[in-house]
Amino acid sequence: MRNYHNFYINGQWVTPNNRDLLNVINPATEQVIGQISMGTAADVDTAVKAAQTAFASFSQISKQGRIDLLKAIAAEYKKKSADIAAAITEEMGAPKWLSESNQAASGYLHFKSAIQILEDFEFEFNQDTSLIRKEPIGVCGFITPWNWPINQIGCKLAPALATGCTVVWKPSEVAPFSAYLLMQVLHDAGVPEGVVNMVNGDGPVVGSAISSHPEIQMVSFTGSTRAGIAVAQDAAPSIKRVTQELGGKSANIILDDLSEEAFGKAVAGGVKTMCVNSGQNCNAPSRMFIPQTRLAEAEAVVKKVMGKITVGDPNDENVFAGPVVSKLQWERIQNLLQQGIDEGAEVLAGGIGKPENLETGFYVKPTAFTGVRNDMKVAQNEIFGPVLCLLPYETEAQAIEMANDNDYGLSGYVSGADAKRVIQVANQLRAGMIHINGAQMDRTAPFGGYKHSGNGRERGPQGFEEFLETKALLGAAK
Ligand code: NAD
Repeated sequence: MRNYHNFYINGQWVTPNNRDLLNVINPATEQVIGQISMGTAADVDTAVKAAQTAFASFSQISKQGRIDLLKAIAAEYKKKSADIAAAITEEMGAPKWLSESNQAASGYLHFKSAIQILEDFEFEFNQDTSLIRKEPIGVCGFITPWNWPINQIGCKLAPALATGCTVVWKPSEVAPFSAYLLMQVLHDAGVPEGVVNMVNGDGPVVGSAISSHPEIQMVSFTGSTRAGIAVAQDAAPSIKRVTQELGGKSANIILDDLSEEAFGKAVAGGVKTMCVNSGQNCNAPSRMFIPQTRLAEAEAVVKKVMGKITVGDPNDENVFAGPVVSKLQWERIQNLLQQGIDEGAEVLAGGIGKPENLETGFYVKPTAFTGVRNDMKVAQNEIFGPVLCLLPYETEAQAIEMANDNDYGLSGYVSGADAKRVIQVANQLRAGMIHINGAQMDRTAPFGGYKHSGNGRERGPQGFEEFLETKALLGAAK
């Protein structure tokens, strides 16, 4: 049992004001594996005061001082990475291979990447007769989800520290263990007191107290579009900057000019990417657009590849996908599967219910629907499970139109034989990140969405800008 009852405020583990506890459930066993305390607005207020006091000195630390601090954090993080990976597997069910190679590893990579960007980042430059200064925005409030619990905080925390901001963070109450370990890493690495503070709790109480706090100058939120709207509404009266990394329903357009082998590879890649992390990725390629003339060819590949996706105990080295995070998510996915069937989509692989011999644990069958129309709920709503929709198209223009006919606009994927054509299609997609011919994630490229997928960008120099105010010193050009 992990009993992580304290919050981290002003450089120490402190007892919360409230003694209400929340059970944390292992999604693979359905057992209680620990508890956290549920914070209150008073805890947030104490944390904000600590962050405000710390900002006065931390914002003045030299660039080299911040590089040294990030290096110390990265080194300390590396030592604890295996423990963090194990905590992630326990709290949200990511399989061991994914927790180690991606989920936990992402924390280290975000700190390393921030160091590289910081080394070349210009905080002062001339513009005509003025000197332009980029200054840290102040105290930042972070609210993060459970699906990539370290990655989502890493891509906020690293640039915040790199730019001289201080932080009050509420991790997801569903997956709070890795957050606790990360705070210990920061403590052991010597992050000055008050610079990063963590308060556990739920969205409506602690999340809302962060979004609405008048002394927090920016709030960076990652999670559902529903909660992202609430954050922006709570934030509005205090005129703070709001960045939102929200949901997605990303299109994967497979063009008609690929050879049989390349076509099979593109379809198979799309299926696997959809099932990574049990489909709980905001940028998952959940709508696969296939030329009508090649639909049967695609269906054969999807059936074969999906049938081979191994689902089971996330601690088993041979398992590709673990359970989904919670009973609530499992039920939500089942309801959406039923809706798809009711609307007339054809189940090509998987379907309703748990996979064979996996009665305990929130396991979902990797599922593909074919014959999907773009107006069906399964094609429009984010399912957040290993569920792929195959949508046939007649012309390239129709594929682009359907891809854009969705409220979300986080990612897109385009595969084709003619490189120029692939880019032309990518340029017409209303989404923030387009993967060209199976290109993998680039941790230095800006990450963020159009439309209901959010506002603002994380990662790369663009991610730094979110944490900076711009001051113009008129007549002071050097
Ligand atoms: P969620 O919105 O339920 O919760 C996310 C966080 O917001 C949690 O910490 C939660 O406690 C908090 N929260 C909930 N209601 C709130 C409120 N009213 N005010 C303030 N905070 C509140 O989302 P989730 O289920 O944890 O995560 C899944 C969602 O996150 C999916 O929609 C997914 O697409 C999205 N996501 C987006 C990205 C991205 O970068 N675009 C990355 C990961 C996840």
